[in-house]
Order: sequence, then C-alpha cells, then structure tokens
Amino acid sequence: MKVGILGATGAVGQKFIRLLQNHPWFTITALGASERSAGKKYKDAVNWVEDVNLPDYIAEMIVSDCNPSSFEGVDFVFSGLDSSVATEIEGDLAKAGIPVISNAKNYRMNPTVPLLVPEVNPDHIELIKTQTFTEDGSGWIVTNPNCVAVPLSIALKPIYDTFGIEALILTTMQAISGAGYPGVASLDILGNVVPFIGGEEPKIAPETQKLLGSYSDGVITEPRYPVQATCTRVPTLNGHMASVTVKLAKELSGIEEVREAVLNFKNPIAELGLPSAPKQLIRLHDEIRYPQPRLHADQENGMQLHMGRLRKAEVFDISFVCMAHNTIRGAAGGAILNAELLVKKGYLEN
Ligand code: NAP
Repeated sequence: MKVGILGATGAVGQKFIRLLQNHPWFTITALGASERSAGKKYKDAVNWVEDVNLPDYIAEMIVSDCNPSSFEGVDFVFSGLDSSVATEIEGDLAKAGIPVISNAKNYRMNPTVPLLVPEVNPDHIELIKTQTFTEDGSGWIVTNPNCVAVPLSIALKPIYDTFGIEALILTTMQAISGAGYPGVASLDILGNVVPFIGGEEPKIAPETQKLLGSYSDGVITEPRYPVQATCTRVPTLNGHMASVTVKLAKELSGIEEVREAVLNFKNPIAELGLPSAPKQLIRLHDEIRYPQPRLHADQENGMQLHMGRLRKAEVFDISFVCMAHNTIRGAAGGAILNAELLVKKGYLEN
C-alpha cells in the first residue's frame, strides 16, 4: 500500500520513516511538512536524528506541503503533525477521502474518532462508521494516545477487566525524546528532573478512560474514577516510566491475584499476525531493579510493555511501575500497528 507521512521532518515523522523501511505491507510515496520544508529534497529539509542512515530513496524525495492534492494516489497517511496545525490539515485530508492515522492530540477525544491501542480496545474501530468527513465513508481519522496513556492503558487493562478501578495516583518519569527536537534545553535537563510537562497531565485521565471504555452501537461508555497525575521530565533518552498506585473496585485476597490477571491477559490481536505486534505484549519483571528504560525500552523492537515492582500498597490496594518506548510504542510504532489492524479488519485497502 502507498502511504504518505504528514509532519515527515519532525521527530515522530522520522521515526515513521525509520520503522517503515522494509515494512512488508506499506511503502512511503509522499512526504509532507510545513512551507519551510516544502519544495526541498528531504535530506535538505530534515535534521535527521535517528541512529540509522537516512534511506537513499527517502533522502532524494521532494517534500510537499500538506494539502490534500499533494497526497493524491496514496492509500492513507500517517500524521506526526504539530498540534497547532493538525486539526485543519488532518480534517481536510479526511474530507478529501484520504484516511488519516494520527499521533496528534487534536481528534483523540472526538466521540466519533477511535483512540486506538490494538491490544486494549480493537472493537473501538467500529466508531469509524459514525464519521461524516465524506458521504461515502472513504475519509476518516484514527488516533493513537499520548505516550503515557499507551503504557498505562496496557498495564491497566487486565487490572480493570478483573477488579475494576476506583482511583489512581501516578507519577511519570518521561524521556527527553518525548519533547521532540530540539526539545528541552540541555541546561534544564542535564543532571536534573523537571517536575512539570506543559499540557501532559490533563490528557492522562480522559485518554486512558476512553481506551478502557466499552463500545456499543457507535458509543463508548467510559469508566470514571479520579486520577492524580504528576508528569516529570527526566534525563533518559527513550522510554516513559510511570509509578502507579491503584484503588481497586473489588477486594483483593493477595497480590498473586493481580499477577495472574496480568500474566493471563488474553491479547485480542495475538493471532492476527500483524507485522509490528510484539510476540509477548506484557513483560512482567520479577527482578526488583527492573524494568529500566535503557535496558528494556528497545526490546521487541520497542513495542513491548514492561511492568515491575508489582506489590500490595500501603495506600490504596496495589502499586507497580510500567514503561514503554515513547516514540515507538507511544507514537509512530503504535500508529503503524493501528494501520496494520485496520488492514486486517478491511478498513484500509488499495
Ligand atoms: P516536531 O519534531 O516539532 O515535528 C512537527 C512536524 O510538523 C514537522 O514535520 C513540521 O514541519 C510539521 N509542521 C509544523 N507546522 C506545520 C504547518 N504549518 N504545516 C505543515 N506541517 C507543519 O514534533 P514531534 O515531536 O514529531 O511531534 C509531532 C506530533 O506527535 C505532535 O502532535 C506531538 O504531540 C505528537 N506526539 C509526539 C510524541 C513524541 O514522543 N515526540 C509522542 C506522541 C505524540 P517543518 O519541519 O517543516 O517545520
């Protein structure tokens, strides 16, 4: 299938290009960015920060603007657009009949737009049928969540399904790559922790609750529970970690019950053979010093969810840490997995 990348020159756009090299189903045929980059060869427009060489055929491609006419002939686009422009650009492409699979936050909470993590809420894809961008349904938008909501929702899914959730307290330790490029000033982050990330905390409760919501007849019914989130930036490169404490809706006889729920979680896409899906979705570490971003974020091509420190809590019921690669599982890799599921379910075809 022919795919375009919106925001191709940005941090997420570059990750798309890297991950789509040699993809068995998708080939990049169009690259879009701002007027600053349009008309230039990709190699002259981008500040390539990936640690693999820029593929030759991409280096020589001419970057276009993000108007729908620049993406004629593609089967769909991935978006890594800046949120200041994503509403209009993504909406225009969908109206032109081009499906958009987006990382930007703009459409995530739209009630007709699936906010999708394939292993958590694959049935939410059906929401596409409620979208009205085009009369014939050819143009639509699917989003993937914020890079903290991804690991959090995967870790919470077996817990929510088995015990229910009444309240949540979490503190995140977010890698610097999550801020894009050039990101946080080096003098702010070197040997330091910044105890606030603008705009991050308010996304966590609504996005995670939408992901855990149940779908029926074009509507998602979301669980509601209080969430106290503190988001911090730490000097790690990749891998957002969260320390989470949960009040459960059901009484717990012992922590073993939670362990079993996590280990026995039935991954709903395990049998679909999606190329980017990790073989083992959740790796629950028993070693008290694991998981660690530097050791584990890249495992299973950056698509695995790591949990550890699972224990009974003194306040509320249980505590654990969870961690996943923020620009792969939490951004471009998650969007590619969404596209693969949409192909398998017949929503994307060439
Ligand atoms: P970034 O590095 O700042 O890249 C932004 C991209 O948007 C660039 O390609 C830029 O093109 C393009 N752009 C800016 N203004 C434009 C315009 N007027 N018209 C067309 N294109 C325009 O940002 P990023 O870190 O890759 O993040 C991209 C999106 O993904 C954001 O919405 C972000 O919130 C989301 N996200 C990021 C992460 C992460 O870990 N970094 C994780 C999840 C979601 P030029 O180079 O031409 O300016």
